[in-house]
Amino acid sequence: MIVELISVGTELLLGNIVNTNAAYLAQQCASLGLSCYYQSVVGDNVDRLRRALLTALERADIVMLSGGLGPTTDDLTKETAADVMQMPLEMDGHSLERITSFFEKIGTKMTENNKKQALVPRGALVLDNENGTAPGLILEKDHKRLILLPGPPNELRPMFENSVRPYLEPLCTGTLYTRTVKICGMGESKAASVIQDLIDGQTNPTIAPYAKTGEVHLRVTAKAADGKEGAKLVKPVVKELKARFGVHIYTTDPEVTLEQAVVELLAANHLTACTVESCTGGMLASRLINVPGVSETFKAGYVTYSNKAKRRILGVKKGTLHKYGAVSAQVAQEMAEKAALVSKCDVTVSVTGIAGPDGGTPEKPVGLVYIGCCVCKKTTVRECRFTGSREKIRESAVSAALTLMRQCVLEYYSQVTFGK
Ligand code: ATP
Ligand code: MG
Repeated sequence: MIVELISVGTELLLGNIVNTNAAYLAQQCASLGLSCYYQSVVGDNVDRLRRALLTALERADIVMLSGGLGPTTDDLTKETAADVMQMPLEMDGHSLERITSFFEKIGTKMTENNKKQALVPRGALVLDNENGTAPGLILEKDHKRLILLPGPPNELRPMFENSVRPYLEPLCTGTLYTRTVKICGMGESKAASVIQDLIDGQTNPTIAPYAKTGEVHLRVTAKAADGKEGAKLVKPVVKELKARFGVHIYTTDPEVTLEQAVVELLAANHLTACTVESCTGGMLASRLINVPGVSETFKAGYVTYSNKAKRRILGVKKGTLHKYGAVSAQVAQEMAEKAALVSKCDVTVSVTGIAGPDGGTPEKPVGLVYIGCCVCKKTTVRECRFTGSREKIRESAVSAALTLMRQCVLEYYSQVTFGK
């Protein structure tokens, strides 16, 4: 079954609101195994909506529309759909009753134009709206189906769950089964080159790399009759990815984040951790603290932004700061090692860098960041060069710090070796 989405609303075209309905409906279709090849957005205009509808009906079995079902004159989705399907509008007693009692319940007088919402194309299936007045509608004719849903997401989503999903399920013959292999410590182009042959030769399942800040996610998707068959199809591909990316994979669970994987690794080895940050200003600590149950592991986070703070709080040597500068491998190393002494933690991570937009020099440009990680007195320092805005550089630094923590702990405790 092929489905197509049409979002109706001039405010969508103007960029005044984000089209979250399309994202939601597309995800729902994918989970039902419906193929969605086109989505479009059209303003509140009868002619253009009619044309969009006719085009969609030529290439899809099911067309799902959202928005424009309300009581005002610019709401014209239902009228246009009824016209295209040649199903004249009639007053629907059940809907009129529901709309009348909705207004009674909220204690507001119903205006005349609200009656318009109870007009229904002859023969249409009416979907009750539990959170508003405009009912949803399903129009069937000549093996084509139009599904009309209200624009407000708090009305559309429950209506989809309660009425549309049960209606679609018997029509669906398959499902999309997805696993996500998450990789850190490797750029997108390198990751893609490792699996180029798999990507070139893929049919079902497919592998799609997605670049995230400091991470690459490989989404493996299989079209299958059911979840069991999907799992069977995806399993050998995930196994192959594990063989190729090895220790760079931190999870295959879509819910698990990098910080969660790091915290779990620390907890599994009964290690305590501490962060010491300059340019990231506590963002690293914050990401770790986002993980529920981190208190067993995370003990302290220092933000030492100025040279004075680095000296006074941690005891970084004046000479080191003076000789190499605050953004240097030597200072990153000392920050991590001194933080280990102050906090008495097993694993300490330091971040010092130039987030910009000012402060860069030819030798030390904006985006230069040093990350230090000290595990039981053994310190590793990594030099990173990031690009982008101040925010992007800081986010990249945090991901790199989490990646280095993971790598150092694995190397120290699991005798795993990472390639350079
Ligand atoms: P109403 O009865 O509120 O007029 P409606 O079915 O006529 O509902 P619209 O008038 O098109 O729908 O949109 C109403 C509101 O719903 C918009 O102002 C917006 O807040 C939200 N909305 C509409 N379409 C979308 C969309 N595609 N994604 C997210 N929100 C949307
Ligand atoms: Mg409206």
